[in-house]
Amino acid sequence: MNIKDIIISNNFRYKKSLGQNFITDMNLLRAVAADSGAGKDDTVVEIGAGAGGLTLALSEAAGKVCAFEVDNSLESILKETLKDCANTQVIFKDVLKMSDAEIAEIAGESFCVAANLPYYITTPLIMRFLESSLGVKSLTVMVQKEVAERITARHNTKEYSSITLAVDFYADAEIKRIVGRNMFFPVPNVDSALLKLTVVPDKYKVKNKEKFLKFLNSAFYMRRKTFANNLNAVFGLEKEKIGQILSDCGYSQSIRGEALAMADFLKLYERIF
Ligand code: SAM
Repeated sequence: MNIKDIIISNNFRYKKSLGQNFITDMNLLRAVAADSGAGKDDTVVEIGAGAGGLTLALSEAAGKVCAFEVDNSLESILKETLKDCANTQVIFKDVLKMSDAEIAEIAGESFCVAANLPYYITTPLIMRFLESSLGVKSLTVMVQKEVAERITARHNTKEYSSITLAVDFYADAEIKRIVGRNMFFPVPNVDSALLKLTVVPDKYKVKNKEKFLKFLNSAFYMRRKTFANNLNAVFGLEKEKIGQILSDCGYSQSIRGEALAMADFLKLYERIF
């Protein structure tokens, strides 16, 4: 039986509140598994197994799969879809409520993440894994196309935003493929993109990581305001002092955060603090 038939024969009712838009095309799912780069030596953590289509493709490609799913009513469907997947374990838990230690106990010290993410928690899920102390090698995640464009944006574009910088701090981001809305069921009202985030440990060396992340975030505190104004609002720094440092570093005193690339932020952080 194919996955569509398994879903129908189990009378499954999709829950919009859990972001349940499933993919059942095994060609696409095998391509997603290949894009994740996971091989037989790798463990993959999947977030949101759904009816198990991606789980099945990952189990063919990887050494071990630990798939988390919050919806217990998918248990009988997953049993059927994954009946031949000896290397796969489904854990019925909300992954956002699990500690690093609980995840590491199940998945081990080092793993890849792959998922067709529920739209409503895309950013918290991505940041939860990037910011953790877990040995995450990469995240290959299906997200709303606009979110993928924001995460991979360059400075001086309207897509460039605080999430671009927050993700860039931890990982290299690339869009692997665009996936039209008709590949999902129920069909959502947005297209998707497969985003691959390759984690680069200690990508940027900065003193006081939390303060630097707050500094990056402050650039977009109020998008239409100048960077100096935003730094004043967030850190209480004197506008004149920031203006002088901007000039000394060769920037306009009225420059906005969206015009600065990561290398600029690194230089200015060093000078300002
Ligand atoms: N992987 C399947 C696929 O590609 O067809 C399902 C993807 S569907 C977009 C997202 C899945 O994530 C749903 O099955 C939903 O129940 C599950 N989910 C939502 N929130 C979750 C959470 N906090 N922890 C674990 N699973 C979650």
